[in-house]
Amino acid sequence: MTPVIVTERPRLTALRAAWLFDGTGSAVVRDPVVVIDGATIVAVDSGVPAPPGAAVVDLAGAALLPGLVDTHVHLAFDASTDPVGHLAGRDDEEVVAAMTRAGQAALRGGVTTVRDLGDRDYLSLGLRGRPGLPAIVAAGPPVTTPGGHCHYLGGVAEPTGPGVRAAVREHAERGVDVIKIMASGGRLTPGSRQDLAQFPPDVLRAAVDEAHRHGLLVTAHAHAVGAIADAVAAGADGMEHVSFWTEDGVDAPAELIRLIADRRIVVGATIGMRPVPGLAPPPEVAARIPAIVANTRRLYEAGALIVAGTDAGIAPVKPHDVVRYAPAMLGQLGFGPAEALRAVTSVAARVCGLGHRKGRIAPGFDADILAVDGDPLADPAAWQRIRAVYARGTAVPDAAAAG
Ligand SMILES: [Zn+2]
Repeated sequence: MTPVIVTERPRLTALRAAWLFDGTGSAVVRDPVVVIDGATIVAVDSGVPAPPGAAVVDLAGAALLPGLVDTHVHLAFDASTDPVGHLAGRDDEEVVAAMTRAGQAALRGGVTTVRDLGDRDYLSLGLRGRPGLPAIVAAGPPVTTPGGHCHYLGGVAEPTGPGVRAAVREHAERGVDVIKIMASGGRLTPGSRQDLAQFPPDVLRAAVDEAHRHGLLVTAHAHAVGAIADAVAAGADGMEHVSFWTEDGVDAPAELIRLIADRRIVVGATIGMRPVPGLAPPPEVAARIPAIVANTRRLYEAGALIVAGTDAGIAPVKPHDVVRYAPAMLGQLGFGPAEALRAVTSVAARVCGLGHRKGRIAPGFDADILAVDGDPLADPAAWQRIRAVYARGTAVPDAAAAG
């Protein structure tokens, strides 16, 4: 008799909860049942029994949301008061270990996808696809000028057309997912000027052109008004910060706001902050925050595409799961609760190039799910009460402890 070979099929998992927000809608669904097969969502229903034989996880009183997506993090920065100094003191092996801890912290806080917009020496690329970490979209070291913003990360290019083209080509050959270019200076780099452009406009344009030739999108770190205007003119697909920083304040010309909105350039607003007693932004930042918020609100009202690109990792107020603090600030910009939730799930997933499998709770999508205690549309504090996190169908250990 021929032996019968039985392949053991893993059991389905069915998550039950009080509410579900699917990442694209404008309301919650009651009594959801989300069925997971391995790493993938296979069914989403409400008010029905779980499939026979499924392992049922009953999250009574909880809401299921898509895992959060942060479009701007730095796994290599350790969210301490001196992330740059700590990074400088670590060899590559230690950096990878620290990045792994950062990714685990993000996952415990419900962040299942991150776009790393600046590592050192391409170290984030090797972490892509590792179990126990969020999905990582990696820029490698940002392209910058000699001595320019974040030059110490290893992405220095000669500030000429051929120079930046060579740098972008190297990034493409190393296999990055996106190009990050430092169009202006930044505070983390002494000697660089946040109020000034770093590259001549035609050089920035060459960098964008070369990236597009390789099928890569470009997002430009742009604080200075001139750098923002140059990035827009160069055809950048996205911009980070967009603070309209000037030497003594903030200035956002109406026509530039209109252009950014009309061209659907992704604005990665640096929002989301974890309250840490005794820590306040530096005075030159604090003084500008009201105007930066007002201008971001103008961008929102003009119809710009805004996501929360938190800059997680750069300070204690920016831990690696900080994007769960962003919806409150999106509210200040004019976002409704469901719109804010879409911004940190399905919209951010699309910006990361993963809109086809991340950011939604829907059949065929990756089973990246955050369960919080309460209805997050009615009660923003629910965001901080994490009940469970699933990353590609696997429950994240100690997720609730992060809440
Ligand atoms: Zn950054």
